[in-house]
Amino acid sequence: MTNVVVVGSQWGDEGKGKIVDWLSEQADVVVRFQGGHNAGHTLVVGGVTYKLSLLPSGVVRPGKMSVIGNGVVLDPQALVDEIARLAAQGVAIGPDRLRIAETTPLILPLHRELDALREGTNSGTRIGTTRRGIGPAYEDKVGRRAIRLVDLSAPDDLPAKVERLLTHHNLIRRGLGMEEVDPKALVAELLAIAPKVLPFMDRVWQLLDKARREGRKILFEGAQGALLDVDHGTYPYVTSSNTVAGSAAAGTGIGPGGLDYVLGITKAYTTRVGEGPFPTELTDEIGQTLGSKGHEFGVVTGRPRRCGWFDAVLVRQTVHTCGIHGIALTKLDVLDGFKELKVCTAYEVDGKKIDYLPAETGAQARAKPIYETMEGWSQSTQGARSWADLPAEAVKYVRRVEELIGCPVAVLSTSPERDDTILVHNPFEA
Ligand code: IMP
Repeated sequence: MTNVVVVGSQWGDEGKGKIVDWLSEQADVVVRFQGGHNAGHTLVVGGVTYKLSLLPSGVVRPGKMSVIGNGVVLDPQALVDEIARLAAQGVAIGPDRLRIAETTPLILPLHRELDALREGTNSGTRIGTTRRGIGPAYEDKVGRRAIRLVDLSAPDDLPAKVERLLTHHNLIRRGLGMEEVDPKALVAELLAIAPKVLPFMDRVWQLLDKARREGRKILFEGAQGALLDVDHGTYPYVTSSNTVAGSAAAGTGIGPGGLDYVLGITKAYTTRVGEGPFPTELTDEIGQTLGSKGHEFGVVTGRPRRCGWFDAVLVRQTVHTCGIHGIALTKLDVLDGFKELKVCTAYEVDGKKIDYLPAETGAQARAKPIYETMEGWSQSTQGARSWADLPAEAVKYVRRVEELIGCPVAVLSTSPERDDTILVHNPFEA
């Protein structure tokens, strides 16, 4: 296996950072293929903590090529700021270690403003977004009026493209009572930032094809989670990109044959940030315990995450929609000390038992979890490095999860520390 795709198998925040960091150390090329600076992860490399939102995890490691694919939406200012933050930590990022696809659509201030305005209206359509302008930027991409990175390299044609974009946006802004955007000012803004981002521009599809032919190891780093996928997630309470593994092909131009192994990062319980259905959510003391023990606060927004029992129905579905070969099970230690644990094995919707997530939003909201109760364990699993270090009940829990989701554990993570891991098989060597 030379190429590995990592995806979150739940609603994001599954603890991808540690696993992606470990894999990025082995990879030659690390690629982001969807989302934008709505993602957030913390890497600890050589005792130094780095917080990344937009840049692929490989950037903090010398000798790796980091790539942002066309499936990402790129806020050029956020990129410049993140590069500056890393420079202040001693990591210099130049075109020798970062390349961005020419066709990547840009997130502009008007996208951010629209996102924040919609979220603030309380009109019943609040999604609980990160307010980074992700949704509006993707809307412009499929609406065929986005400004793309490559457009900054053709200054003569830029005013016409900006006019086209603003014809749409100023109409909306007028309707919402917002100030219109001046086309000349926007062109000037784009041309001012162009010299800072254009040096990174490349034909990513070609770069990846070459890397693949040379047998270099490519890691595709997914952001968010499969249940936030705009097609396969809990629509409309989703992000605006395809977060499933297949998106790694469309979002970079490598072609589906270039994706060898899919690793699904899976938390031993369930969390979600923002609005939307969450069948196993616990609003009681148990939910609070999971949240405080698991430090469940968003990296980007600082919002507390909603917590609940492990939902095998959802992950089983994700195993299919993403074609997951193996999972990395994270945060098992957060379950230490519970007398008993519950795992959702099916739902009851309108009196019927079903073993999948219904597609309709109302039915998703009405889905009642059917639980199986398992014995908990009192010993600590934190820092375990072999199966023998785990209490028998914890091993039983993991085995039952594998059985219910129909997928083996490839990696078991037992603390944020790199070495606190039980490795069943290495995705790059599977
Ligand atoms: P957006 O991506 O900012 O449009 O937000 C849409 C939904 O995705 C909201 O529920 C967010 O909380 C969620 N979301 C976006 N990025 C992340 C992430 O990195 N982790 C978890 N949830 C996320």
